[in-house]
Amino acid sequence: MRKLADDVYLLGGFPPSAINVYLVGDVLIDAATRQAQGRIERQLSDSDLSAHALTHVHPDHQGASHRICTDRDIPLWCGEHDVAAMEVAGSVTPPKAPAAVRRFQERFWVGPPHPVARALREGDEVAGFTVLETPGHTAGHIAFWRQSDRVLIAGDVINTINVFTGLPGLHEPPAIFTTDPATNRASIRKIAALEPALVCVGHGGPLRNPAKLGAFAAKLAS
Ligand SMILES: [Zn+2]
Repeated sequence: MRKLADDVYLLGGFPPSAINVYLVGDVLIDAATRQAQGRIERQLSDSDLSAHALTHVHPDHQGASHRICTDRDIPLWCGEHDVAAMEVAGSVTPPKAPAAVRRFQERFWVGPPHPVARALREGDEVAGFTVLETPGHTAGHIAFWRQSDRVLIAGDVINTINVFTGLPGLHEPPAIFTTDPATNRASIRKIAALEPALVCVGHGGPLRNPAKLGAFAAKLAS
């Protein structure tokens, strides 16, 4: 695990930073794919966990959630408008993705449904962070913001790599994986307006350049 800020750690992944999982205080944020469960649990063997929270319910973030919550006997939390996706089988894959992609994700990535113990809403507190509703990529996408040192756990509101090539660079999440790109752009503007000193994203390395994020947000179509 790599320390990014006080109480914020990035777990090791393969390839590095392709799909990110964070330990924030004693809360695990996101859980990659079903394939990643062993790797995540090995890295957390010495960590006390009180809960597992999701930025959003997609196959590359909720894949290992059921197993980890069950094995560690901890509650699962996610944004209120993603609760149904987490609890109802067959509703995790992004609806606009090509059928072959969705079949692949169902077969290798998607984790089983799991009951959501707490539906998170704007202003809720999680491990010293404040929940921000950042819809668009999914209806219930949320981010976690800590004002004191301006740290943001941003999920897939923005990517710091091209998710298809792995090359670094700021990007909107791909439209085929995004429920409502225009709403997601509003969420990008919302997080950019905070001028975060550190942005921890779902895909790609950490971004420590609020001006770069601001310039990216300013150029987006509405
Ligand atoms: Zn993702």
